[in-house]
Amino acid sequence: MEDVFKQESVSELKGRVQRAKQVIVTAHRSPDGDAIGSSLALQHLLSCLNVSSQVVMPDGYPDFLTWLPGQDGVRFHDADPEGCDTALLGADVVFCLDYNAPSRAGGLGSAVATAASQADTFVVVIDHHQQPEDFADLLLSDPSTGSTAELIYRLVLAWGMADDIHADMASCLYCGLITDTGSFRFPSVTPRTHAMAAHLLGTGMDHSKVHSLIYDACRLDQIRLTSYALGQKLQVFPEYNSAIVSLSLEELERFNAQKGDTEGLVNRALSIEGIRFAVFVKEDVDRVKMSLRSTGTFSVRDVAATHFNGGGHHNAAGGACPGESLDSVVARLIGLLPTYASQLQNEG
Ligand code: 5GP
Ligand code: MN
Repeated sequence: MEDVFKQESVSELKGRVQRAKQVIVTAHRSPDGDAIGSSLALQHLLSCLNVSSQVVMPDGYPDFLTWLPGQDGVRFHDADPEGCDTALLGADVVFCLDYNAPSRAGGLGSAVATAASQADTFVVVIDHHQQPEDFADLLLSDPSTGSTAELIYRLVLAWGMADDIHADMASCLYCGLITDTGSFRFPSVTPRTHAMAAHLLGTGMDHSKVHSLIYDACRLDQIRLTSYALGQKLQVFPEYNSAIVSLSLEELERFNAQKGDTEGLVNRALSIEGIRFAVFVKEDVDRVKMSLRSTGTFSVRDVAATHFNGGGHHNAAGGACPGESLDSVVARLIGLLPTYASQLQNEG
């Protein structure tokens, strides 16, 4: 994995950002804790080099992430498309964090693709998803790493800036770390992950407070929606060790759902004894969105990529079906289970 962060390329990158007049940091559509945490951590890191930067997100993120140090300065493409596109196209360096294809950046995607084709904009991808598209000038990708936050930390070390990590930067990195590793429980966690956490805690950041801000800030409506989804909408297919939960727009509106309210649902379905494959299917205004999770050898990335225009990681992936009804997507999913029967029935 050291070859991903070749000293020569990271040193060149450091020189480029120090010479840059405009640096933009972007992440994927519907930013999660890793996307926004890594972006703000990188912004803090660049500040330590006296490099000012602008974080631009395709759209908003859930309320449980709005405490992150530095987030007041974030700009959102869906609120100001022209302004954000202009900023991106005028940048000397554009960072693409936690995604590996322009299409994953939603409304920002075309500006990212154009920036990548411009000779005077240096586009850098720092990401941990499999099979990156070939669009960046520099690709720092390691799919074996559990979070993009860990790759930002690796960049900090490669730039010789370990001592520059302050408590605010550490909180942003820690947010990415815990949200993408299920609080240190996924197989992607290594001794290196814990060594990073130890370093972050040593900066004086309040890890317990970060956990509370992220996980103990549920609205009552959200708890009721979760109860409804698990109580009324969970379908279990024991013969395929699979579980599916789906929610329509009407149901989401009935419970006054907000961004992020359904984030943990798919993991609850996966936590059922014996379940190896869980999917949460959600109706959106312009598409049906899916979150897929598995344990062991069953690849939800393959399922998402083959059938639902998606991708992600081996055990955690997503997909999107524009122009298809919720019922049709769920029916298609149920229809697929027999084709995966042997993989789902084997212990993996
Ligand atoms: P989540 O279910 O938490 O939204 O996403 C799980 C993983 O799949 C994340 O790593 C995310 O980046 C990826 N992912 C989610 N939705 C999509 C999608 O529509 N396309 C692709 N390629 N990846 C996705
Ligand atoms: Mn991530």
